[in-house]
Amino acid sequence: MSPPSTADYIINHNKTSPDLQAASSKLNAEGNKQESAINLLLTTRLFTTSTDDDIEPIPLKWDSKSSDYKERGPVVCNFYKKGTTQHNSIGAHSGCYSVYHGLAVAAKQLNPNFHPSFENTDPQFTIPYNDNWTDGESIVSIDPFGHLAIPENFPDLAESVDIRPSIAITKAVLQLPDIQSLVKEGKLPVDGKIVLNKEGDVAISKIALDSVWYLPGIAKRFGITEEELRINLFKDTNNMYPELITRPDIKTFLPPIGGSTVYIFGDPSYLSDSTKNLALRVHDSCTGSDVFASNICTCRPYLIFGIQEAILQAQKPNGVGMCVYFQKEGRSLGEITKYLVYNARKKYGDTADKYFLRTECIAGVRDMRFQQLMPDVLKWLGVKRIHKMLSMSNMKYDAIIDAGITIDERIPIPDDMIPGDSNVEIDAKIHSGYFTTGSVKTKSELEKTQGKEWK
Ligand SMILES: [Zn+2]
Repeated sequence: MSPPSTADYIINHNKTSPDLQAASSKLNAEGNKQESAINLLLTTRLFTTSTDDDIEPIPLKWDSKSSDYKERGPVVCNFYKKGTTQHNSIGAHSGCYSVYHGLAVAAKQLNPNFHPSFENTDPQFTIPYNDNWTDGESIVSIDPFGHLAIPENFPDLAESVDIRPSIAITKAVLQLPDIQSLVKEGKLPVDGKIVLNKEGDVAISKIALDSVWYLPGIAKRFGITEEELRINLFKDTNNMYPELITRPDIKTFLPPIGGSTVYIFGDPSYLSDSTKNLALRVHDSCTGSDVFASNICTCRPYLIFGIQEAILQAQKPNGVGMCVYFQKEGRSLGEITKYLVYNARKKYGDTADKYFLRTECIAGVRDMRFQQLMPDVLKWLGVKRIHKMLSMSNMKYDAIIDAGITIDERIPIPDDMIPGDSNVEIDAKIHSGYFTTGSVKTKSELEKTQGKEWK
């Protein structure tokens, strides 16, 4: 059976309007001129539809095949100025932080008509254009021209709509205690370029990226129709984004989710050169381990190992290292689900054979990270070949290979870096398909891998 059409969906779900109209009539009959939420709903334009005769969205050609960002057009995504009729994207800038923006305006701490100045915020280094940016398929979850979307680059449009970047590019110095210890122990040499001094300061180039979804491309990546994608995003966000339904002509959506950060060790121009050797760690955030060093999983140790190997690779001739850090807490299930799973694991008896079952009982799935979208950032950077892949995940590996990027070698976390209580996780993951250079435990052996107890 084919999915319901957009028109059907609107008709079937447009049942609240008569109630609102009746309530508003009652207020008016009572002479109640007070601004109520209901009157606001009826007097403010909540959303536009593709049949409105006053819409004139700023052209945005995702698959323009042109390296000229002006010809391709900027993402325009808010209702300020003439944005109501001219926006070309659904959602809001800044991912999950967009809600704080609304709160700041409501709390009268931010002028709703504030016009940002991006003067002197230029990228501190250049990511050169490559054809992946404009083929319409290779990159569907970030805006490849997001760092160029500033009003100064679109002076003709900047007077009528608010243009904001979704990518920022800068440089920094890391002072990581684990890396500083390795430098002091002589395991990481001081070269003055990447490891700057004997204190272990590390020079990096880094890039922050917010999510911008090109809906036809996302749908194609998952083998579903664009309509199925739109309807389910609309419903599952509790109808927060009606234009997913009412504006099929708009193809981009800025979702309220975390973004990602690229940390580059060495020369960023090496990333797109397949004759150079790249060591890469693709890491999904785990605040409990990454920041607070909780010992239940291998996240922080593997991240540190990834940074260590990235530095060592960058210090070699023709070498470069990179860590890409995705805000996907608890396999994109969130920290609440994660802690509930921890509790259930401890109460049921934490053994490796039941590791994924505990998550599936609470979340319905074992993982929502959707690594299919992860290679977009690699394609944006022009990566064609990875020399050392510092990951055991079969999902990340498959996604990168499917994206047409080759991997020379996969490197598991060293055994001596695995915290004792995280053997449950690592044994279960290896059994389910994670890469290992060691042995894969049988199901009966998994029953004997014991983790934390409830106490
Ligand atoms: Zn973790």
